[in-house]
Amino acid sequence: LSERLEGALKVLKGENKLTEINVAASIKEIRRALVDADVSYKIAKEFTDRVKEKALGSDNVLKAVSPGQLMIKIVMDELTDLMGGQAAGLNLAGKPTVILIAGLQGSGKTTFSGKLAHWLKTQKKKSPLLVACDVYRPAAMDQLTVLAEQVGVPVYKEPESKNPVQIALKAIQYAIEHKCDVVIVDTAGRLAIDEEMMAEIKNIKEAILPQETLFVVDAMTGQDAVNTAQVFNETINFDGVVLTKMDGDTRGGAALSVKYTVGKPIKFASTGEKMDALELFYPDRMAQRILGMGDIVSFVEKAQEQFDEELAKKLEKKIQKNKFDFNDFMAQINQIKKMGDLKSIMGMIPGMDKLTRNVEIDNNAFKKVEAIIQSMTPKERTNPDLLNMSRKQRIAKGCGRTLNDVNMFIKQFEQMRKMMHNMSKMPGFGAGAPPAG
Ligand code: GDP
Ligand code: MG
Repeated sequence: LSERLEGALKVLKGENKLTEINVAASIKEIRRALVDADVSYKIAKEFTDRVKEKALGSDNVLKAVSPGQLMIKIVMDELTDLMGGQAAGLNLAGKPTVILIAGLQGSGKTTFSGKLAHWLKTQKKKSPLLVACDVYRPAAMDQLTVLAEQVGVPVYKEPESKNPVQIALKAIQYAIEHKCDVVIVDTAGRLAIDEEMMAEIKNIKEAILPQETLFVVDAMTGQDAVNTAQVFNETINFDGVVLTKMDGDTRGGAALSVKYTVGKPIKFASTGEKMDALELFYPDRMAQRILGMGDIVSFVEKAQEQFDEELAKKLEKKIQKNKFDFNDFMAQINQIKKMGDLKSIMGMIPGMDKLTRNVEIDNNAFKKVEAIIQSMTPKERTNPDLLNMSRKQRIAKGCGRTLNDVNMFIKQFEQMRKMMHNMSKMPGFGAGAPPAG
């Protein structure tokens, strides 16, 4: 029982502690999470400075049950906003729609071109045409051809030509003749930015005037992704970003940095080598991934929904006056139970999942304690000091437990009460509540 109670208390303590978190402390934590997720320190700092300003300017923070949790919610909203808020979608106007794919070599352009064709065909009921404009590597043309076959769309290529502008222009003509309504132009990349490549992609863009120019970038490359994006954006003024290799262990900081730096929406996330491993980019999901905080948002929402602020304040006063009794204890258990399954709640707290992985948290532990308390008279519940030996024996009989069980529970309750009372005398207890008179 001792361990179980400790587990339950941990949750209570966690609640109190979260209440004490001040804005500055959460800001620091959030900045660290961002840097851990590959966001540059400069961007992380600019971002958290803004969040801090917002948080301090909102009186919500002070009224909230838990400023720490509200902070995180503000950050999630800000992050989501920063990455574009809503999923951006594609501009499919134009007859045919022309989509130009640009990016460094190995970033995943050819793979993405195949995926996009598949996506347009299955999700948007379009008839795409894939165009091979990577004229430098014969293998690139073959690769696109294989992918085109896999997803069942035609491919336009000219193995003899070394002129990507001409190929692209003729491909659009071909698309019109063959009733293809979207033309996806896969281009050549280099391992690093060079002038020749930038000039070529610029020429292609100016010749074919695409409705969408998508910049493809490997999410694993972290800060490099930002620099590359900047140069490409200055040269071809792209419309959107495709983040590839999101199935790797990247935490998505590149997404934030790229959006923050070039201000263009991220439109797709590529999550594997298979042709269906493509997702529209959802800023809110990415915000969660960047913070890497478990399902923090639902935790915050759950806590805000269920935690009764009035009750908490009343409790605080009682603890300060050392009047915490069995009824309060029951109320606390009910609070915790209202929040749902203990283990799943712990799992939602950042870092907690690791701590509790090996600890057995048993919702049934409460049942024994509840049974003991229920066997007390109302008078006993409000006056724990009344409990003498004969009363304890009666309670043990009433709830079907041994005298030892009852003794142990009461002893633990007393210890807990003492501990809480001592804690209540420490500075910072119940931050946000008016000082007790
Ligand atoms: P390109 O040079 O820009 O055309 O890049 P490719 O499309 O040829 O991709 C380079 C490598 O990355 C290939 O081995 C792809 O299979 C791989 N790749 C592309 N996209 C993804 C992705 O989303 N996830 C994973 N795991 N691999 C990818
Ligand atoms: Mg390629």
